[in-house]
Amino acid sequence: MKILHYEVSTKTNYLNPPYGGLGSKNMDKKLIIAIDGYSSCGKSTFARLIAKELNYIFIDSGAMYRTVTLFCMRRKYINITGLNTTGILSELKDIHIDFVFNPDRNEYETFLNSENVEEEIRSMEVTSFVSRISQMPEVRARMVELQRQIGVSKGIVMDGRDIGTVVFPNADIKIFMTASIDIRAKRRHIELKSRGVNIDFEEIKRTIIARDIADENRDISPLRRADDAIILDNSRMTVDEQMVWIKEIIDKKRNGS
Ligand code: C5P
Repeated sequence: MKILHYEVSTKTNYLNPPYGGLGSKNMDKKLIIAIDGYSSCGKSTFARLIAKELNYIFIDSGAMYRTVTLFCMRRKYINITGLNTTGILSELKDIHIDFVFNPDRNEYETFLNSENVEEEIRSMEVTSFVSRISQMPEVRARMVELQRQIGVSKGIVMDGRDIGTVVFPNADIKIFMTASIDIRAKRRHIELKSRGVNIDFEEIKRTIIARDIADENRDISPLRRADDAIILDNSRMTVDEQMVWIKEIIDKKRNGS
């Protein structure tokens, strides 16, 4: 397995992230920043930018659940008719997920057992199955264990559904993101179109709503706002405005207020 920067599967010697953001001048107080919220709110975009700004590690925890889902689809452990739990559990330990830095894109990409699956895990098919896989207690336990290993040395921004509630309940900053359903569906529509995927707007809306319902109503680690999370409704905010907003929160935290 080729590890360029860090992996979440078998080793714990994570190297420094390659970003050199403004915040790298002020690295004395390393934080754990948890970004949770609804599907298609722009959590990963936001979290990634914060990580670049601070020269922190960024982990898209949804990518991990998506990668497990892709593995299960390939093994035919999941399809529209059902789920082969025994099969999944028998191979869970063999699913190795790495985040490898691609200098050409200046981004981390997700690898499944050494294969770059960054594109494939974003497909509609994976998206439609992922909530069923992420409901499995054993899958969650494994993912949370790996996520906590990465957070040991702090200096991390992680986005997902249960980061502030379960993975890092003591995170220094917790954000809970939301936006109106129409805005989220519109953003997703534009994103899919730019990737050449032609899907009806109403269909996208239905998928987002279904995923939110599944994520909010599962038994283990359902999506919910941590009591101490700050709500960010970005329906009418640009990414730049969100960055100005979060920088103020980070500065306050670093200055101890
Ligand atoms: O963030 P993203 O939309 O890529 O996440 C895909 C799915 O992974 C979510 O719908 C949810 O079912 C699952 N997930 C989760 N816990 C997380 C992150 C994602 O259950 N921390």
